[in-house]
Amino acid sequence: MKKWAKALIICAVIAVAAAVITFSVMSYLNPQPKKWAVEGDGKIEEMDYEASLQSLDMMKNTWQTAVPQTEIYKLITEHFNAPLPEGKTEKKAIVIGYDGCRVDNFRLLANSKKSAVNTLLNDGGEAVFSYCGGVNYPAKNIQDTSTAPGWGSMLTGVWADTHKIYGNGKPKEIEPRTLLLSLVEDKVIDSSAFYVSWAGHFSKKTATYINEKNYIEANNINANFKRALNDTGTAKNVLADLNSENCSDFIFLTLEYTDHNGHGTGFSLQNPKYVNAFRNADAAGADFIDAIKARPAYDSEDWLILITTDHGGINKSHGGPSFEERITFIVSNKAIVE
Ligand SMILES: [Zn+2]
Repeated sequence: MKKWAKALIICAVIAVAAAVITFSVMSYLNPQPKKWAVEGDGKIEEMDYEASLQSLDMMKNTWQTAVPQTEIYKLITEHFNAPLPEGKTEKKAIVIGYDGCRVDNFRLLANSKKSAVNTLLNDGGEAVFSYCGGVNYPAKNIQDTSTAPGWGSMLTGVWADTHKIYGNGKPKEIEPRTLLLSLVEDKVIDSSAFYVSWAGHFSKKTATYINEKNYIEANNINANFKRALNDTGTAKNVLADLNSENCSDFIFLTLEYTDHNGHGTGFSLQNPKYVNAFRNADAAGADFIDAIKARPAYDSEDWLILITTDHGGINKSHGGPSFEERITFIVSNKAIVE
């Protein structure tokens, strides 16, 4: 064989190998969500938003009597401060956050094959409408229906007039402390963990909880703020924690499937990508609940399991005052409203 032909073959082999390696690395970093072929998906009846919410018969209240999203803070605090039920030796809690998940996604639950929301409801749990923005719709909201203010209100129990998180991209002062810090620092629990992929939580200079993360590290507080590259990575981190013998007492996590697809292609049940994003988030949530139930110590642990979202969405955005952005949800394995 001529020299130039050999060189050509070697070059071709190297090029193919490089392409295969690049593709493998990209797939690992950015795995495509599973496709959920569910009857009815992509053909959801278009409804007026209010009628859509009224059709959700699994909800314990109405959107008019929605509870504030700060209820999350109250439920977690009360759970850890209440006496241990008989036969239980340890308290645990988890907040499974689906970022930007409109509550009308619950219309899909009837056809869900694997769903954390259905699991909690089938186990005797409760679902309620909640609201973000500081006041319920239609009164004018006092904080943006955005990511940082929303999760911030759940983690601190107050609205932007107190926590001062008016939007994304500006670090919060240490006070008011989040539950991830205060519960551990005040020795109510031994450990907490915050699992995310969104860098805006605590992974850049302008991130909401960068000051708190630095304070936690400087003071050797047992609160683990861990960021993965994407939701698959977040799920891995959460499952590794839940599968460990002495898992974190309080876990707070956010999945970006719904927010990401809403911004990309539209917050709408008429958008199969948004529908699929909800399926993926709710299936990941179901994996977390399965892992909790599979814990060897599960029978002696008293778990509070909550699923919620920070805000809804309309067209390809959120942050504003619309009905679709304001009404959220809380699902719990325990009673929420009297
Ligand atoms: Zn968000």
